[in-house]
Amino acid sequence: MNGHQHLFVPGPTNLPEPVRQAMNLPMEDMRAPDFGEFVHGLLDDLRKVYRMDGGRVFIFPSSGTGAWEAAIQNTLQPGDRVLMSRFGQFSMLWADMAERLGLQPDVIDVEWGKGVPVEDYAARLEADTEHRIKAVFVTHNETATGVASDVAAVRRALDAADHPALLFVDGVSSIASIEFEMDAWGVDLAVSGSQKGFMLPAGLGILAVSDKALDINKTLGEAAMPRCYFSFEDMIRLNDTGYFPYTPATQLLRGLRTSLDLLLDAGIETVWARHARLAAGVRAAVQAWDGCTLVAQGPQWHSDTVSAIFAPEGVDARDVISAAYYTYQTSLGSGLSQLAGRAFRIGHLGSLNPVMLCGAISAAEMALRDAGARIEPGSGIAAAQEHFRDTTPAGG
Ligand SMILES: *Cc1c(COP(=O)(O)O)cnc(C)c1O
Repeated sequence: MNGHQHLFVPGPTNLPEPVRQAMNLPMEDMRAPDFGEFVHGLLDDLRKVYRMDGGRVFIFPSSGTGAWEAAIQNTLQPGDRVLMSRFGQFSMLWADMAERLGLQPDVIDVEWGKGVPVEDYAARLEADTEHRIKAVFVTHNETATGVASDVAAVRRALDAADHPALLFVDGVSSIASIEFEMDAWGVDLAVSGSQKGFMLPAGLGILAVSDKALDINKTLGEAAMPRCYFSFEDMIRLNDTGYFPYTPATQLLRGLRTSLDLLLDAGIETVWARHARLAAGVRAAVQAWDGCTLVAQGPQWHSDTVSAIFAPEGVDARDVISAAYYTYQTSLGSGLSQLAGRAFRIGHLGSLNPVMLCGAISAAEMALRDAGARIEPGSGIAAAQEHFRDTTPAGG
């Protein structure tokens, strides 16, 4: 193969070269006297990305799913009622986990292409005067459908009902890429992973926890869920000294150091603006492709990290993905679950710039035509190019 394989799935994302190099180092002693200082620096800087002053951040050697599990096990009890909504593969899996861990989820099913039903949440919270709902779950960015939801509005609904439920947010494909505000939105548990906005390999489950959730964790007592590997208590005891209760993934932590430097040196708001500009370029291309539409059903749902795109009528999206991969060395995201064959995805998060994205759009455009779509050659890429010409890069 000449050149390299192009990666445009919504995670794992492309690694910045400095991050990759930072992880290429000999094994080190995770109990070295200066290792704790290094870890404290990581935990402090993660708070800046999450935009939080109080609370704590945990780094588990797991993927994002492990951090989902840690969040539930450490703050809820078996039998607890929780309010959830399902509108894509990831929100579906989260509800499934809640059930398997013994919670009683009240699940609102929403048409795929829309996001968290804030008004329904508000009505349920208002009606729950006995405060039997212990937590409210929000999938901030549904990666399967390219739908972003309004977390701040859910916080407002909780406050309007004067409801004490914890606010859980799945930010795996949003945090470090699009606006996320742990403190300002009053989020209690926010889950992320290393292989999306943090531009690292998979292997770190990152979880931010509010003071309120930490207090609840301390008072769970006998009725709590059994937990060991993911125990906050064990993690807090060792993290306070800068170490871990088990062997940390030291290479990934070195990579995280460089990733945090890149994100914070650029400025997190600049990172959000870069993602917004890239996403709008992809949406311009989709709009120009005859017969293609976004799965997201309106601008209020548009995700700035991933676009899920319906193939035109009669075109199998699997053929588009396959042509892109085999003919043009480009990985596009597949249609998950009920979107299989109907949609493909372009991931536009992480270490990307407009010209890289023009490559993805060109590959998708050629692959669409190879799969039988009657789109005008060059229509999407021209629209994206004009968008990038007309807009200025975030941060100059
Ligand atoms: C990727 C993703 C997950 C799963 O994370 P893993 O790291 O694969 O365990 C969960 N939620 C969302 C929204 C995701 O994008």
